Amino acid sequence: MSYLPIKQLLQTAPASQTVTVKGWVRTKRESKNAVFIAINDGSTIHNIQAVAEPGQLSEETLKLITTGSCLAVEGNLIESLGSGQAVEVKVVNVTVYGTADPEKYPLQPKKHSLEFLREIAHLRPRTNTFSAILRIRHALAFAVHKYFNDNGFYYLNTPIVTASDAEGAGEMFRVTTLDPINPPRTEDGKVDYSQDFFGRETNLTVSGQLEGELGAMALGKIYTFGPTFRAENSNTTRHLAEFWMIEPEMAFFELEDNMNLAEDFVKTVIRYALDHCADDLAFLENRLKEEEKNKKKEEQSDMTLIEKLRFVVDNDFVRLKYTDAIDILLNSKPAKKGQFQYEVAWGIDLQSEHERYLVEKHFKKPVILTNYPRAIKAFYMKQDEEPATNARGEVFGPTVRAMDVLFPGIGEIIGGSQREENLDKLVTRMEEVGIEPEAIWWYLDTRRFGTAPHAGFGLGFERLVLFVTGMGNIRDVIPFPRTPKSAEF
Ligand code: ATP
Ligand code: MG
Ligand code: MG
Ligand code: MG
Repeated sequence: MSYLPIKQLLQTAPASQTVTVKGWVRTKRESKNAVFIAINDGSTIHNIQAVAEPGQLSEETLKLITTGSCLAVEGNLIESLGSGQAVEVKVVNVTVYGTADPEKYPLQPKKHSLEFLREIAHLRPRTNTFSAILRIRHALAFAVHKYFNDNGFYYLNTPIVTASDAEGAGEMFRVTTLDPINPPRTEDGKVDYSQDFFGRETNLTVSGQLEGELGAMALGKIYTFGPTFRAENSNTTRHLAEFWMIEPEMAFFELEDNMNLAEDFVKTVIRYALDHCADDLAFLENRLKEEEKNKKKEEQSDMTLIEKLRFVVDNDFVRLKYTDAIDILLNSKPAKKGQFQYEVAWGIDLQSEHERYLVEKHFKKPVILTNYPRAIKAFYMKQDEEPATNARGEVFGPTVRAMDVLFPGIGEIIGGSQREENLDKLVTRMEEVGIEPEAIWWYLDTRRFGTAPHAGFGLGFERLVLFVTGMGNIRDVIPFPRTPKSAEF
């Protein structure tokens, strides 16, 4: 007797062969002529139908088969008489592994709001929506590793507990074994970290980039793909306190190479999902269509989910300098009518409303924005020789070779740059922003010994999953979301 996942069973030709299905009951329907049990095992969005004749299952067994219960069904794989599926299982025997009290099991067959499902995140993978999202997430993670492997990158694991806090990318979570209420103190009253586990202050990493650069300066092309942590108290639909970041870093790459790589990379992994997750994407697309119906006409999207993904894969991204983007924003209707919440001026860190205006209203395409003001970017970005000038010849402050990739519905999906390879410029910049060069002496060694032009970027994996699944909230594309005041697991 063979045991196959439902995904494979549904593609097996009916031949009256005996099979076993194992999975969770989605629905049970009893009619005069038969009992129909829809079973799902998570291998596919589709259920398989098991059909028993009346009287074949005892009253007692029948009572135990409810939504959420777990079964093994042995039977014959036959051609289905009903529409919607090619095969079904004619029941020979049912074993109930586990029951699910209908009074208590929260996932009864009806529409559940995403807010409600967030409260039962431990069970939501049993729904169609979340199992589809998790399968797509898996496919994208695989595609990420495949892309880099196919292109000569080495997977480098950077530390999760780190002593470097120089990146300045976000608030860090402290890691300590000291008594939090009454830590040992030095004579001058400061916490004595020499008694801590590592003998110094340590944190959870906000980015593997600095260590990634060490890898690139030895192996040529590396990427990291691991968890990152930011204690940012931003309750947005785009930020998590624990998220996964993909960070390639390449020796001998300049800004333009970096842009080419970022564009090719995201297109390739999205194409992989289109090719390998067709059923799950179609399911999510339909779900979105239902949601769209409740929106005002002008807010409805003119593309379906799959059209949107194809559009991104098939079209060149717009490439634009920050200074030119500011001009576009200043001349935009929202700026003139005062509809932006944050005022636009050269030097501001673009807010999501600005990014989304450029992408969704102005260009209607993904945009790669480059050459940002030095003052709003990290110390390690390569400094441009000339200050920025706009089309009218106005001169602005110094800029760096940064690039952000902006996506419709998301805003920033990638942040990257060419790195400053000149030791003196790097140290001067660190001193200007108050970073002690001694604190990352190991990082500066890459510039001291055999420095080279290099570049890299960081892609927030959940932002990519958010885009591909068409979901609206980042909490819904990670199995166990962590946000301020919420860490159930
Ligand atoms: P944002 O402006 O959206 O806060 P950032 O500029 O602070 O992002 P970077 O430090 O550039 O982020 O990190 C690289 C990428 O990591 C971002 O482009 C984004 O995709 C992702 N990212 C950053 N912060 C978060 C977060 N809190 N949750 C999920 N993804 C994040
Ligand atoms: Mg941020
Ligand atoms: Mg940003
Ligand atoms: Mg950024």
